Amino acid sequence: MKLLDLQLQYKSIQQEIDVVIKSVLEKGVFILGEEVEKFEEEMASYCGTSYAIGLNSGTDALLLALKALGIKEGDEVLTTPFTFIATAEVVSLLGAKPVFVDIDPQTFNIDVSKIKDKITTRTKAIIPVHLYGQPADMDPIVAIAKEHQLFVIEDAAQAIGAEYKGKKACSIGDVGCLSFFPAKNLGAYGDAGMLLTKDKRIAERVKMLRNHGSKKKYYHEFLGYSSRLDNLQAAILRVKLRYVDKWNEMRNYNALCYNDFLVGVDGLMTPKISPEVKSVFQQYTIRIKDRDRIQERLASLDIPTAIHYPMPLHLQPALQYLGYTVGDFPEAEKASREVLSLPMYPELSREEITQLCDSIRSCV
Ligand SMILES: *Cc1c(COP(=O)(O)O)cnc(C)c1O
Repeated sequence: MKLLDLQLQYKSIQQEIDVVIKSVLEKGVFILGEEVEKFEEEMASYCGTSYAIGLNSGTDALLLALKALGIKEGDEVLTTPFTFIATAEVVSLLGAKPVFVDIDPQTFNIDVSKIKDKITTRTKAIIPVHLYGQPADMDPIVAIAKEHQLFVIEDAAQAIGAEYKGKKACSIGDVGCLSFFPAKNLGAYGDAGMLLTKDKRIAERVKMLRNHGSKKKYYHEFLGYSSRLDNLQAAILRVKLRYVDKWNEMRNYNALCYNDFLVGVDGLMTPKISPEVKSVFQQYTIRIKDRDRIQERLASLDIPTAIHYPMPLHLQPALQYLGYTVGDFPEAEKASREVLSLPMYPELSREEITQLCDSIRSCV
């Protein structure tokens, strides 16, 4: 049993993948190129945006989003403390200040009722994260942003193909950021990421930012980054994009099975499946009392689990300079003590899930 089985996925599409890899190697174009351009078009259309720009990671997508929107030293950016470090890291790296807003205990996403209190004259943007593949409550976020003239950057690194009230993640805010890190629900065979937007000016700026501030070779209008998507990764991702809806469906089915089989387990809360959103279940994450002890017991039965995330961002040593302390975001802190992610990938069978759930029952 694995938490995530990438070899199984490769085996299921091996022939197609091998063909495109060989073809890219034979053509000899490796950084950007035809496959990247086609993949960008396909992703823009898949996500319902006008532009998609291939980058070398999801982290860079967030960084270049902030850069393109002009976020700079002294600015404040609202986000959740219960996410992967990258979401806030890029804000800090630009000299701006991440300002955290506690999470909704049901969804683990930013609590929209607490956003307004954190807005100051320096606030420039909100980064909602669609955690575990479940979209944040975007309507109120967009409304608050409009009212206070803030940019909305969707961190959809865990939510490729997820939907909020019929709209795809990345098509709701000003900018959407995706990661194709191998473990994500549309994963490359290395680092890769993408920024999506409907705004032509943002798209043009990001295209230059990814290539040293340049449009024309060896002519640089401003300072940028080296953050281009590889042709090889784009070719691989184009094959996988044809399967991602099916895989997301399989993940949803697996989540339903888990939810069914875990009904009534003492001290265990399964994820809520809301009719307004379509999660992609990047993670299947439960809340459970006495989490650490249960994780150890499951490990002794060879059942791998993971904790996303054991330490909320406001308590991370790297962000200590922000001055937050224990107790500032009680829901995020509580979640970090209670969450447990169970094995989740499309190919996981109903029988395996049944067995997993029986083991969980025997551990509580
Ligand atoms: C994975 C992830 C990122 C970063 O993506 P990389 O491609 O690994 O740089 C950012 N935010 C969230 C929420 C993530 O899960």
